[in-house]
Amino acid sequence: LGLSAPPVQTPVRRRTRQLRVGDVPVGGGTPVSVQTMTTTNTADVDATLQQIAAVTAAGCDIVRVAVPSADDAAALPATVARSPIPVIADIHFQPRYVFAAIDAGCAAVRVNPGNIKKFDDRVGEIAQAASAAHVPIRIGVNAGSLDARLLAKHGSATPEALVESALWECSLFEEHGFTDLKIAVKHHDPMTMVAANRLLAERCDYPLHLGVTEAGPAFQGSIKSAVALGILLSEGIGDTIRVSVSAPPVEQVKAGCHILASLGLRPRKLEIVSCPGCGRLQVDIHRLADRVEAAFTGFPHPLRIAVMGCVVNGPGESREADLGVSCGNGKGQIFARGQVVATVPESQIIDRLLEEALRLADDAPGN
Ligand code: SF4
Repeated sequence: LGLSAPPVQTPVRRRTRQLRVGDVPVGGGTPVSVQTMTTTNTADVDATLQQIAAVTAAGCDIVRVAVPSADDAAALPATVARSPIPVIADIHFQPRYVFAAIDAGCAAVRVNPGNIKKFDDRVGEIAQAASAAHVPIRIGVNAGSLDARLLAKHGSATPEALVESALWECSLFEEHGFTDLKIAVKHHDPMTMVAANRLLAERCDYPLHLGVTEAGPAFQGSIKSAVALGILLSEGIGDTIRVSVSAPPVEQVKAGCHILASLGLRPRKLEIVSCPGCGRLQVDIHRLADRVEAAFTGFPHPLRIAVMGCVVNGPGESREADLGVSCGNGKGQIFARGQVVATVPESQIIDRLLEEALRLADDAPGN
């Protein structure tokens, strides 16, 4: 049972330093992790934990929470204690929240020392506290918040400007002997973001967090993210990712997991092989594919299911999958492990596929 097609060629990963975000290793060839940020008010512990539970169920490995106020900082101990996955505190400007996050047991802190330096230069103390608590620091450089000095020097947020900014931010910690760093350089334009990360990968061996920032609404943003992250990950660059689309965190996580699975960097749980449809269709294939996906999401075993509109490619794809349906004349020919097991009316296709899936699961080794 489970995704029986030949394994894909997985990318050879760039060797970076390795650090640990809680119990999740990052870099050094360890599996690429998926992240998101909660959208709840961090001070509302229950709402935040509910969202963390949902993103964890969707495949999230590490979650980041924004800490813009004292109330948010005060909520961190309770959130960290009950979160099933490591929590990163995202902090701008106020060093006191960084210390609070470290004391709260946050697995990492995102902070830009350039900002800290500008307002209250306590970078050395932060380095000391993070080092003592074995808490890594993530430096995040975004096109939208690039240092004015570098913006003036480079004219705009070019790949060189983003990389120079990130390495300068790193140097502010390195001066204090702190190198437990992870870097993100993000841009809303996928190819600028790709160029920046290629450059960064050449110039340092810190683990890299990848993301196309402010990528847009779900459809556009997921495609932009898939293109940029797909290019970099296929070149072995990237140790952790986030899909930053204007959609709920669960959707961001699902998109991130799909990107990794498409590259063979994460096992797929459910793969629907469905045809786009053409003039040969005699069933509503778009609706059927959606219904199959909805019916099998959360199925406890990995499955590849073919949902095909006619006999041109239907039987071939159905035979290659764990389960398949090849449609025609308002009926579906059902396949299980490469064999035709039934022909049923369109209205019974989902039920029959579920029945066959349970049968396959019962026959799976270990059951
Ligand atoms: Fe068209 Fe049949 Fe191919 Fe679907 S499987 S796209 S219906 S030819």
